[in-house]
Amino acid sequence: MKVSVILPAAGLGTRMGRASPEKAGTSRKQFMLLDGAPILLHTIRKFVACPLVSEIVVALRREERQWVGEMLRREQLARPVRMAAGGDTRQESVGNALASLADGVDLVAVHDAVRPFIDPATIEKVILEAAETGAAIVGIVPVDTVKQVHRNKIRATIPRDRLVLAQTPQVFRYDLLREAFARAAEDGFAGTDEASLVERLDRVEVSVVAGSDRNLKITKPSDMDLARLFLSQEQAARKAS
Ligand code: C5P
Repeated sequence: MKVSVILPAAGLGTRMGRASPEKAGTSRKQFMLLDGAPILLHTIRKFVACPLVSEIVVALRREERQWVGEMLRREQLARPVRMAAGGDTRQESVGNALASLADGVDLVAVHDAVRPFIDPATIEKVILEAAETGAAIVGIVPVDTVKQVHRNKIRATIPRDRLVLAQTPQVFRYDLLREAFARAAEDGFAGTDEASLVERLDRVEVSVVAGSDRNLKITKPSDMDLARLFLSQEQAARKAS
């Protein structure tokens, strides 16, 4: 089974704010340093360590490709890691990477470059579920009650037991994801994740595999404090094992 992993890493990180102290060369969250290494590299290492993964494709803005390429060569990673052109939206970045895959890919896993704390067991679980069903994502149940609103007035309370918060990885059969992207392009549909593109095909039901709130999407400056804590805990656990 050939599994290609796409890591969209071409975001501008505008929610981090320009005044962020985490400026190591750039304020984009995927390149902020955690223990001396860019977040993107922490994420790449998680997938390199997964025995089910065949290759990794990172979607990057043009100006980032040279230094990231040099960093990847220095790392001498145990699996092939390539670069693809980033786009103006996340969907475009993933679409470009998807179009760059060679024939013979069975499954495609898409994972936010800014979620470096995905644990190896969850990567395996969601890949194996997609291998069986065609489509699977990682999700967690919300702890807060979710309201539907119009302006600041509540219109409905959505039963919590019917909700999950979608995370990544999101894994799909290659042909299904290609079709989903082609259909979205035809219809001018823009989604915030890959599952929403596959759902509207109405071809398979997308499974949800239980994730964890540790699979943090580093988005705001305050997320970096939590990221440092999670990293030190990961390192301590590794030392203890
Ligand atoms: O924009 P969002 O917060 O959903 O970003 C999730 C991931 O998608 C990040 O890793 C970001 O770098 C990536 N992205 C991208 N190309 C864009 C926008 C976001 O690869 N144009």
